[in-house]
Amino acid sequence: MQAEGANIQKELNPLANAEMQFEQAAQLLKIDPGLREMIKRPRRATIVSLPVMMDDGKLRTFTGYRVQHSIIRGPAKGGIRYHQDVTLDEVEALAAWMTWKCAVVDIPFGGGKGGIAVDPNKLSRGELERLTRRYAADLSDLFGPETDIPAPDVNTNEQVMAWIQDTYSMHARRTVTGVVTGKPVIAGGSRGRREATGRGVLFCVREASKHLQVPLAGARMAVQGFGNVGSISAKLLAKDGVKLVAVSDVRGAVHNPAGLDVERLLDHASSTGSVAGFAGGKPLTESIVEYDCDILIPAALENQITHANADRVRAKIVAEGANGPTTHEADQVLTERKVFVIPDILCNSGGVTVSYFEWVQNNIGFYWTEDEVNQRLEQYMVKAFQDVLRLSLEYRVNMRVAAFMLAIKRVVDVIQLRGVYA
Ligand code: NAD
Repeated sequence: MQAEGANIQKELNPLANAEMQFEQAAQLLKIDPGLREMIKRPRRATIVSLPVMMDDGKLRTFTGYRVQHSIIRGPAKGGIRYHQDVTLDEVEALAAWMTWKCAVVDIPFGGGKGGIAVDPNKLSRGELERLTRRYAADLSDLFGPETDIPAPDVNTNEQVMAWIQDTYSMHARRTVTGVVTGKPVIAGGSRGRREATGRGVLFCVREASKHLQVPLAGARMAVQGFGNVGSISAKLLAKDGVKLVAVSDVRGAVHNPAGLDVERLLDHASSTGSVAGFAGGKPLTESIVEYDCDILIPAALENQITHANADRVRAKIVAEGANGPTTHEADQVLTERKVFVIPDILCNSGGVTVSYFEWVQNNIGFYWTEDEVNQRLEQYMVKAFQDVLRLSLEYRVNMRVAAFMLAIKRVVDVIQLRGVYA
């Protein structure tokens, strides 16, 4: 019983999952064990205590994290998450996935991630701003356009990025736009960044549908999480004729086998704050992961597809909008069942790709049109998908193992050229 509990705990630890995914691919590549150890571990992990004066005059102290997993291919790059369950292990896993993601899509960044253990819905806007600024001030020695560049993640957004940009700039005594990406467009953000992760999911699903010969028009999708990634993925795929049959968020879920009207659902969610109660569908009580559909898009949090439900996934394609939604154990089950999983480090890499475009635009001070951004994004995503697919067919491995192999090889090739200092 105890052993079973320990196994489940291990299965649900994102860091353990990230490491097992890495090991599987590194072994196939026959990477030297010393080098493997070097690139598996995070370069630097920082924990900060963040005192904040609350509106009621009481002082509360929160815990914040920033992990730089790798700076081998360029500055550390990765989002900041505000969530009550954030832990160092989770941030380390997310930082490692960023390293592999940037390498898969071939942009010149390493990997990083940050987070604060807080439920931001329980803070006032003023408290949230003070917490964000304290976090940015405490980490301002790490952050910088050439060293470590944050972006939004779960429960952070353009406003939070603008506060970080401002805090960093005040310390630097000049406006530094390139210190964060995912900023508001008028403060130096990129057109198309808000939609970029969902648009990347669209490009990947299109490529998968061509490869598997599953036509998109008339296909049915179920989307878990209706925030930035889930809602935009649903909206863009619906334009390709995919029917949204089920959707969920943290407050509830609705379904309609005949199709949910995505535009009306977006209006409902933005006015009520949730998909729950949408009149165009019925409340969904079963797990959305097991819903009858062709394309499942987990776009919420980690550990949604596990050993406990992987054999009941009915989709042909799982497009991982979220980071780490499928555990390593569940992955083996899906592979055996020939479910085509587009892994997170490929599927949701559209966000960091347009973050890269944003950073380039900040560095050169010349801004692109939305069409230019979207066209370049498509080129990067289609190439990355095809690179991964080719390796997957060549080595007869699933898309996740192939994506890790591609990424690890790209990082190792740079280390071999640069060498290991002193
Ligand atoms: P978000 O905060 O905008 O949205 C998260 C959504 O998930 C919300 O609708 C929330 O209600 C829902 N959710 C939370 N817990 C849930 C649960 N238990 N069941 C169902 N729904 C639940 O966050 P986001 O930016 O859309 O990020 C979602 C995922 O995508 C995360 O894993 C994130 O790391 C990943 N991601 C985001 C980006 C980006 O550009 N924002 C890029 C790459 C990957």
